[in-house]
Amino acid sequence: MKFLRQKFLHENMLSKHGLILSAFAIVLGTISLIEFICPQTMLGTIIAIVTYFLSLVAGCAFYFLFTDRLNHIVEKHELICAKEGAESLRNEKSGLLQNIIDNSVEGMVTIDESGIVQIFNPACERIFGYAAEEIVGKSVSILMPEPYRSEHDGYIRAYCKTGVTKVIGISQEVQGRHKDGMPLLLDLSISEVKLNNDGRMFSGFVRDISERKSVEDQLQTYMTELEWFRAEAEKGTRLKSEFLATMSHEIRTPMNGVIGMTELLLETGLNARQQHYADVVMRSARALLDIINDILDFSKIEAGRLMLEPMPLDFRRLSQEVIELFSVKTGEKGLEMLLNYSDDSARYVLGDAGRIRQILFNLLSNAVKFTDKGRIELIVEGLESPQNRLNDAKIKVSVKDTGIGIPQEVQGMLFSMFTQADASTSRKYGGTGLGLAICKQLAMLMDGEVGIESVHGKGSVFWFTMILPMVDENAVAMVQSEPVEKAKPESLKGAEILLVEDNIINQEFAMEILKSFGCRCTLASDGRQAINCVEDDNVYDLILMDCQMPEMDGYEATRHIHEYFMRRNLPPVPIIAMTAHAMKGEREKCIDAGMDDYLSKPFLKKDMEDVLMKWISGVFDAEVATQQRAEAEVLDGGVDMSALEVVRELMKDRYAEIVEKYIGNTDEVISRIGQVFAGDGDFADIVMDAHSLKSSSQYLGAVVVAEAARDLEMTAREAMEKKRPVWELRLCFETLKKAWHDVRDLYIREVEG
Ligand code: ADP
Repeated sequence: MKFLRQKFLHENMLSKHGLILSAFAIVLGTISLIEFICPQTMLGTIIAIVTYFLSLVAGCAFYFLFTDRLNHIVEKHELICAKEGAESLRNEKSGLLQNIIDNSVEGMVTIDESGIVQIFNPACERIFGYAAEEIVGKSVSILMPEPYRSEHDGYIRAYCKTGVTKVIGISQEVQGRHKDGMPLLLDLSISEVKLNNDGRMFSGFVRDISERKSVEDQLQTYMTELEWFRAEAEKGTRLKSEFLATMSHEIRTPMNGVIGMTELLLETGLNARQQHYADVVMRSARALLDIINDILDFSKIEAGRLMLEPMPLDFRRLSQEVIELFSVKTGEKGLEMLLNYSDDSARYVLGDAGRIRQILFNLLSNAVKFTDKGRIELIVEGLESPQNRLNDAKIKVSVKDTGIGIPQEVQGMLFSMFTQADASTSRKYGGTGLGLAICKQLAMLMDGEVGIESVHGKGSVFWFTMILPMVDENAVAMVQSEPVEKAKPESLKGAEILLVEDNIINQEFAMEILKSFGCRCTLASDGRQAINCVEDDNVYDLILMDCQMPEMDGYEATRHIHEYFMRRNLPPVPIIAMTAHAMKGEREKCIDAGMDDYLSKPFLKKDMEDVLMKWISGVFDAEVATQQRAEAEVLDGGVDMSALEVVRELMKDRYAEIVEKYIGNTDEVISRIGQVFAGDGDFADIVMDAHSLKSSSQYLGAVVVAEAARDLEMTAREAMEKKRPVWELRLCFETLKKAWHDVRDLYIREVEG
């Protein structure tokens, strides 16, 4: 019905078609009637025409009389329809809004200007534990703990009065209160809703963040704890290093006594039984020292305190040398040992020879230890370098043996500290299980890896890789050449040594060794005494300085002694540190303090000999040196005339010949050194020439020339090790040339008589 009314009583229908329809209907009806009454007559036709016009008139009248009325009806109807539509839309919207409020995950609470709750949605019910009926109509301050509860109403009032707000329009963390009294941590955003009647409402959206906050707090606690643990671990590592340094010092000092004294004991002509006992003591002491060194090495690497000392090296030669070290052992066991050095592997590289040798030594000694028959192969191959290191060489080194092999299940853990394939291994073969762990760490320091392939009972292959810069052959030759003919220990005879050492056993041991070299030894038992000795009687050719001593330690004493030399403008005396500390940085510490070299305790007679030879070998006939110092004032233009006098006395009529030879030789040496700088020869030649010139000049009293030659020799040595720049070497050469130029005429006069 409604539909029909809408369709047919529509305003347009009436206005446009109403008239036509009604007229048409009347005309048709009337014509039909006439046709029915008077068929085919004139009258009928006239009546029909009249009727037709009448119908038209009636239709028009109908239209004019009823259209307005009908339109009014229609408008009324439409108004009713619109009202109905709006209401249903409103109903629909408010239903939707309610739905949204009810289903919101966030709590929503609306209050009026007096703080009275108007809306309290289900999410709020869940957060605060109140049912809506318990809260709506009451003050919102119920939902707050003290002191906010008491302050709240005043706060709204103040806002309504002044419009100043700290909370509206922003989101903030606030404290709430659950129905059961428990505090809640809430995230709250408040907005203001202005009403038509000039009033206002406030809507708050609330989210319970207590849980999130507690997770955050927990996380923060974990982070703090983690930070604490990290700091503790670092402290632990530092303490461990310090402990190890101390332990190493404490163990190495008495070990110095044990090993040193046993070594001396072995030289005293023992009978067979005594010799055997002493040998056992020596072997055990060395084994103990090896273990200490291993533990120290591992700890040093672990604490990141081991620094590599790369130098140019010939890796092929190094591999061959290491293999040769095992020749006796492999010979005894009847094993074959060979080096398989592939052509595609680099040979001249920049690496820490000592550390590379250590890895090779570990792997090869394991191979020899665990192989009873067959052969051991050291295989060196070149691998493709990684993209970012294309200029460096990647080398793979494998040690392959035909020994006992290792079961699959334990292979993976062998590179960890203190691990052995099975417990019986250590009983049968000895060892600490540290070797492979050290190899791994060292390989990693050289950007390499380690690995193992083994079949139980058949043999093993242990391999490692390293990535090293390549160098040219000359660089290696320069470092490796040993130009100076090794002097005999006899040349140490008469050298004046100041031994600074507080430990009685070590004093005794070092004095014995020095005596055995024919050195003259003065003893100082702390740094202060050492300074006194130097200041009272500066006769020393070399000072051996312990580092840790009561009263004044070796570092400080060294600094004082250097100052003394500088104040007096005296040539410095080499100071050699003796220390039991094996930790990294110790060497640097000694050098920084002004010491020239380093002797690590426990040392053997041979180590001491090497150091003494390096610094004073054959440099002086000690007698001459002492005499030189005593009679320094006799210098004539840089020549010690009394020394020349001694030579004249000794050589008698061959004196002129000797002096002439010296002149010729010195000229030659200087010209030869000049040629090295011109690119003909290397620094090793300089070392050799300067060394011999130093001796002859001392002998013939050319003190200033001897000093200059000594400086040149030392600088050339250090330049070879890249510790001194070449320009310094040239400077020393210029000084030498000048010194010779100043005294040459004097010697010519000596020849001419
Ligand atoms: P160790 O000082 O005990 O030799 P390593 O770390 O060098 O310590 O070796 C750990 C263990 O690995 C050895 O005890 C041994 O069980 C096993 N191992 C190492 N090299 C070989 C090898 N070439 N053949 C068989 N077993 C080996």
